[in-house]
Amino acid sequence: MPVLVMKFGGTSVANLDRIRRAAKRVGVEVAKGYDVIVIVSAMSGKTNELVGWVEETSPLFDAREYDAVVSSGENVTAGLMALTLQEMDVPARSWQGWQVPLRTTDAHASARIKEIPTDNINAKFAEGMRVAVVAGFQGIGPDGRITTLGRGGSDTTAVAFAAAFGAERCDIYTDVDGVYTTDPRITDKARKLDKIAFEEMLELASLGAKVLQTRSVELAMRYNVRLRVLSSFEEQSDTAGTLVCDEEDIMESKVVAGVAYSRDEAKMTLLSVADRPGIASTIFTALSEAGVNVDMIVQNISEEGRTDMTFSCPINQVARAEQAMDEARNAGALNFAELLADKDVAKVSVVGIGMRSHTGVAAKMFRVLSTEGINIKVITTSEIKISVLIDRKYMELAVQALHDAFELDKAA
Ligand code: ADP
Ligand code: ASP
Ligand code: MG
Repeated sequence: MPVLVMKFGGTSVANLDRIRRAAKRVGVEVAKGYDVIVIVSAMSGKTNELVGWVEETSPLFDAREYDAVVSSGENVTAGLMALTLQEMDVPARSWQGWQVPLRTTDAHASARIKEIPTDNINAKFAEGMRVAVVAGFQGIGPDGRITTLGRGGSDTTAVAFAAAFGAERCDIYTDVDGVYTTDPRITDKARKLDKIAFEEMLELASLGAKVLQTRSVELAMRYNVRLRVLSSFEEQSDTAGTLVCDEEDIMESKVVAGVAYSRDEAKMTLLSVADRPGIASTIFTALSEAGVNVDMIVQNISEEGRTDMTFSCPINQVARAEQAMDEARNAGALNFAELLADKDVAKVSVVGIGMRSHTGVAAKMFRVLSTEGINIKVITTSEIKISVLIDRKYMELAVQALHDAFELDKAA
């Protein structure tokens, strides 16, 4: 029988009523003749609560124990979903990551999927089971311990299962009815897209649009998974939501496809480091070994052989970054006057494949921000995106102003 993957995010399984509603959607697909693999997230808010407990217990936590704790939310919803389906007379069984077993790397808290054996679940399908409910977000590492795939990782579980089982489609059910030109919570002018190119979705996701985890888009692109985002709260047709697809499958497109933001940024500045070969390498090797994900980097003008080095990283990695820099200084590998941490910044980005062939997008973006009186602290660009770091209090204003200026509320 053809296989369909259906993923339900936190708000879609937030309580027993919602789980029942999601299970009914699954029942509809089973009735159409699909064998269904359901991937569930934890109930909304649950993972945040678990992360909070870990951080309160141990600020520089051991990532193995972090994974042991934060993976647990999905175990509950997987079992409840299987039970709900059974109550509806749909033959269903739940799997935790290690039972599949979904094998990952040992990078605890941000592990990557290495392998998903299909025999175990396929044997059950062959016996007449119609729905395999799999706990998203979690797997088992080479050392036999539980791993997690990074926040939002259930999306990646879903796409990886779709690839492994050759599913006809991977449907991501969430609390919005598709991918929008920007987060619809920031402006009601945000427009739903019927289709979006993999590369644009990849950039939007990596720049903060959390509707899909970045890695899930990467996997869908690599394994040609038909990926759709749709609402678990609305009646569905086969064409509902947004299809993430190849660039060639989109007839009309605009220079800028969307605006993304990330609140969780911090700007770190090392004051007065020596300006000589090898210093950048020392700094960023130490940060990377400490597990700090550095994003933007700027080196300031040098004076008398000293310079300031600025970089951005996720706000919850500031303590790790500080510790890594202190250790490098204490070991004599690095000398600096001070490390400043600015936690009141946000990143706003515009994304579009059209930027490859159109000039002037950066100039327009900077003009719009300056008209609003918003100061730009750091800039980075790539072929299809421009990102700026600004004061967090201007983040929503910046997103709205850019959305207006690039006329994203209007179709191409
Ligand atoms: P789930 O729990 O279902 O995984 P998430 O909260 O992870 O849901 O992702 C859905 C949310 O992503 C939406 O509620 C919306 O606020 C946010 N979002 C950010 N950018 C976008 C965008 N461009 N299009 C749609 N949703 C977006
Ligand atoms: N529950 C996990 C999280 O909140 C995984 C997910 O929802 O995709 O990050
Ligand atoms: Mg999510």
